Amino acid sequence: MDIPRIFNISESAHRIHNPFTPDKLATLGAALHLEAGSRVLDLASGSGEMLCTWARDHGITGTGVDLSRLFSEQARQRAEALGVAHQVNFIHADAAAYVSADKVDVAACLGATWIGGGVAGTIKLLAQSLRPGGIILIGEPYWRQLPATEDIAQACLAESIAEFLTLPALLASFSHLGYDVVEMVLANQDSWDRYEAAQWLTLRRWLDANPDDELAEEIRTRLATRPERYAAYIREYLGWGVFALMQR
Ligand code: SAH
Repeated sequence: MDIPRIFNISESAHRIHNPFTPDKLATLGAALHLEAGSRVLDLASGSGEMLCTWARDHGITGTGVDLSRLFSEQARQRAEALGVAHQVNFIHADAAAYVSADKVDVAACLGATWIGGGVAGTIKLLAQSLRPGGIILIGEPYWRQLPATEDIAQACLAESIAEFLTLPALLASFSHLGYDVVEMVLANQDSWDRYEAAQWLTLRRWLDANPDDELAEEIRTRLATRPERYAAYIREYLGWGVFALMQR
């Protein structure tokens, strides 16, 4: 089992598979006042950058679960490189039903809330692994400005306007689920560029190396159209943030 190949290609050079830069990830880690030995669970952990750098910087221990074989392997290599392989563990598996045997202090899902069928379902899933008084981290897009039409929403790669909320509405939705929002760190347009624009060179290099691959035509089209679409829509309309939540 694996994720669609296109992501393993377009994000193969990414350490962070969401619109956060390393400094924003570090800001989030510092903002949570993590104590050494804190246990962190990361569902859809990607290439493991959050767990590995927080293990190095804050002495946490962690488990990451991800469906991409490539990203999970990159996460293990990153842990070795940062000298934290004894603190973190990466499992190649579907995170949709993953509940940890021992309760954790922080349970996170950054940029993959479809694993729980949306934000509410993912919070429920994470809560099953969390100790009382622990913190849930949700990384999720929101509308910086509401699209006037469904076509604009789809140009932002959303299924519909209703798929995302505005930032105030997203914060209110956490409250309605019975959670206090206790911290947040937001992406900005520059950090979005590091996620999106950083894929274009990867795509171009892959195309040069794999001109006859079955995905070559799709990737050629993507590279030719995506920068303009990104600048006109995604960059203007979509925000992204990580929200720290504690149950009331
Ligand atoms: N949280 C990581 C990755 C976010 S990108 C980061 O911020 O860098 C979304 C991730 O979800 C990808 O790594 C993808 O492989 C993973 N993924 C998608 N479906 C999944 C599933 N059902 N179970 C586990 N991981 C999944």
